[in-house]
Amino acid sequence: MSYKIPLFDLNFDEREEKAIVETIRSNWISIGPRCEEMERIFAEMLGVKYAIGMSNCTTALHLAYLAVGIEEGDEVICPSLSFVATANAIRYIGAKPVFCDIENYDDLNISAARIEAAITPKTKAIVVMHFAGFPCDMDAIMAIAAKHNLRVVEDACHGPLSEYKGKKLGTIGEVGCFSFFSNKNISTGEGGMIVTNDEQVARRVKSLRSHGMTTMSYQRAKGHATSYDVVEVGYNYRMDDMRAAIAIVQFGKLQEDLNKRVKVRELYLTELKSLEDKIYVPFAGNTEFVSNYIFPIVLKNSDVENRDNVRERIHAKGVQTSVHYPAIHRFSAYKPFGANVPMTEYVTDNEITLPMYASLSGEDIKFIVDSLKDSI
Ligand SMILES: *Cc1c(COP(=O)(O)O)cnc(C)c1O
Repeated sequence: MSYKIPLFDLNFDEREEKAIVETIRSNWISIGPRCEEMERIFAEMLGVKYAIGMSNCTTALHLAYLAVGIEEGDEVICPSLSFVATANAIRYIGAKPVFCDIENYDDLNISAARIEAAITPKTKAIVVMHFAGFPCDMDAIMAIAAKHNLRVVEDACHGPLSEYKGKKLGTIGEVGCFSFFSNKNISTGEGGMIVTNDEQVARRVKSLRSHGMTTMSYQRAKGHATSYDVVEVGYNYRMDDMRAAIAIVQFGKLQEDLNKRVKVRELYLTELKSLEDKIYVPFAGNTEFVSNYIFPIVLKNSDVENRDNVRERIHAKGVQTSVHYPAIHRFSAYKPFGANVPMTEYVTDNEITLPMYASLSGEDIKFIVDSLKDSI
């Protein structure tokens, strides 16, 4: 079915097309000069020492976890209210995800106090995910990590250019991971990025990204090197220059796109005031600059059946919605791990994600909110 108002709209035009055509005509389409340029620009945008292009954010998370030293048998504290990749990548290593509840219905991020309560002698790391681009309580989380000697990885997929007290999300923990999947703020089809200020972590990620090889085919083709060694068992998690060329164009559009999203969110907040007794609007009190990757609401006094009915009625009016997220701990593959996360369970049953993209008009937002009102 095609919706009058979709959940998301790709911010593409002839500039992405041109970037692809130029790359194809350059005769070098896999990892090379455009990937290097993309990494340089992204590092500059985030004010971070190292940015490393990745095939996607799932592989970015995997290497980030390895690079901070997570090993088989370690416990890693993470949210259940996230995309499954956050936890899957922990299991690639044979480590154990320990699901931690959110703060509350106004703040869907992992709770610092609950993180501390979940720490055991086996805990190695904390993974935070900045929901919709709204920052987790990083001061508290970094303090807990320092106190217990834990590593911190940021799943910053929702938050490129989002800020927390003057710092960009992804640059506060030891490693930050980003996704350039089609529906993210930066879209290249598939793609991702790791950022870090730690030279050791950067070196390890670069090695693991390409089979543990000491030189890359691009360097060899350029005559900079003729042979290579393999110093550890790595992966092929590289990006390619066609996607990097798209990423560079997308970076140029990002700030303006996010500025427009801030306005869209303001319009939503105004329109949704009349529904105060029916819904929570998470992060309504936020004062940071954020990416507004998605626009979540949570129904009050509701259950999953009611939520699904409300969604069906909104869809019938031509407005597409989604659910962020089906909680990870409830998936069949995660049943053995268990979790005591009652607030996550309420949110996963009663959340509705409304359309969010830069070109949404005031009229669109009125239509969406009216549809929501009628549907509730
Ligand atoms: C999209 C997303 C991922 C996975 O990213 P891919 O690039 O699709 O692998 C991981 N975590 C979160 C929070 C995401 O939104």
